[in-house]
Amino acid sequence: MLKHHFSNIGILRLAVLSLGLLWVAAPSSAHEYVVEVDNSARLLKVRATFDEPVKVALGSRRAARYVRQLRRCDSDESLRLRRGRVQTSERCLQYSVTLNKSANDSRTRERYANVRDIVTNPDNWLMLPNDEDTLIRVAFVLPKGVNVSVPWQPLEDVAFAQPVLAALKNSSTTRLEGYAFRHREISSNAITAFGRFQRINIPVSGGELRVALLRTKHKTAADKLKHWLSDAAYNVSQAHGKFPMRSTQVVVVPVNDRAAEPVPFGHVIRNGGEAVQFFVDTDWSVDSFLSDWTATHEFSHLLMPYVGDRWVSEGFASYYQNVLMARGEVYSPSKAWRKLYEGYGRGRMSAPGMSPRSASMRNGGLMKVYWSGAAIALMGDVQLRELSDNAESLDTAMRKVRLCCLPSRKAYRDIEFLELLDSKTNYTVFTDLYRDYANSAGFPDVRELFRRMGIRTGGEVTLVNAELAHIRDAIMQPRPIARTSSSSFAAPGNDAD
Ligand SMILES: [Zn+2]
Repeated sequence: MLKHHFSNIGILRLAVLSLGLLWVAAPSSAHEYVVEVDNSARLLKVRATFDEPVKVALGSRRAARYVRQLRRCDSDESLRLRRGRVQTSERCLQYSVTLNKSANDSRTRERYANVRDIVTNPDNWLMLPNDEDTLIRVAFVLPKGVNVSVPWQPLEDVAFAQPVLAALKNSSTTRLEGYAFRHREISSNAITAFGRFQRINIPVSGGELRVALLRTKHKTAADKLKHWLSDAAYNVSQAHGKFPMRSTQVVVVPVNDRAAEPVPFGHVIRNGGEAVQFFVDTDWSVDSFLSDWTATHEFSHLLMPYVGDRWVSEGFASYYQNVLMARGEVYSPSKAWRKLYEGYGRGRMSAPGMSPRSASMRNGGLMKVYWSGAAIALMGDVQLRELSDNAESLDTAMRKVRLCCLPSRKAYRDIEFLELLDSKTNYTVFTDLYRDYANSAGFPDVRELFRRMGIRTGGEVTLVNAELAHIRDAIMQPRPIARTSSSSFAAPGNDAD
């Protein structure tokens, strides 16, 4: 079943870059933005100070119509925008943005028609210099009850915004929240949300989820959603002990109409930091949420860098989704094996004349896209464990990928990602599998592997003793990781009404 969009990324602005050091120390050279959000979260006042005179532009020319009172800092003389650009080099700029108009006008409008908060992308309100390397720090000045959600990495030090805060009449009820990113990392796909929605930070192993529960006329059901996201993140930290990202933006949108499942839609957005978005029907019970695989699948995508060839990105996420639901003890091991076996069956039936690389959603090969890569993931995982006496596995390779290369702005080809995995092992199992299967018609057949692992599949799945039973059991074995209890949820700025 397909219920999510593929991950997307701003290809034009791709470059290899790691954000990993941002938390540790911000370099002294940076452009600094102070963004005052008004009480209704419909108007932004932006003050941008650059470390040298620069030419700035809006990400979208259309956004020029929402910009008001553009001028040099502390000057009454207004500056003109031409094609969304300021013609002169400037050191400090001020402008206002009528955010509600930009949101109503943007291509996101339809998707968020029922949302009471403002959802827009940075292109609609952020004027950026064209140098793409300098760090950009953004401090939001937020009135009581108003929250913001952005994909950028949190910034501890927001001292640069203190003078703006101090000058405000209501400074005692206003707070600062800082983030940092580099220009090249943002694109029109990034979500920025403003409003009186509920913000919760969910601790995960090795980091946090920064969750925005956007408001619709439907109830938010925060406790239920916290429990669900926390457990899904726990499942994914079962891959190698840590959640793959340190601070992840999660945007949850309740749908108005009754949906056939608790999470009818989810997807990963890889711009300016990893973000995951879910559309949910909060009428479903907490148990229905916990047994739904969508969040575990989407978070599994974060274990990998962006891989443009979907048979690999969707395949590895589909394999992990089932393995991690078992390690999180949502599925029994035999249920996880049954779901994998059924998926491989659907993949085998799908577009049999096509190779994994040539199958696509459009040519009727959807299930091949999802399951041929999942078969490669299983085969590679078992081979690595067999060759190394369980010392190496897909998990150990993925952990090393996280340490060396995530988060990454690079878009990998299928073979590049498999080479990266192999480079983290003492073997070449993944590139060998690629050579054997990627361009051959048919489907990587795992039935013999199931037999060797002692997984009997006639009717109900039963697990019996067999040559590779120890590997079968190791794959689904939970890791000893502490669950984050619901009492430890921090809730900064969580005084929304
Ligand atoms: Zn997916």
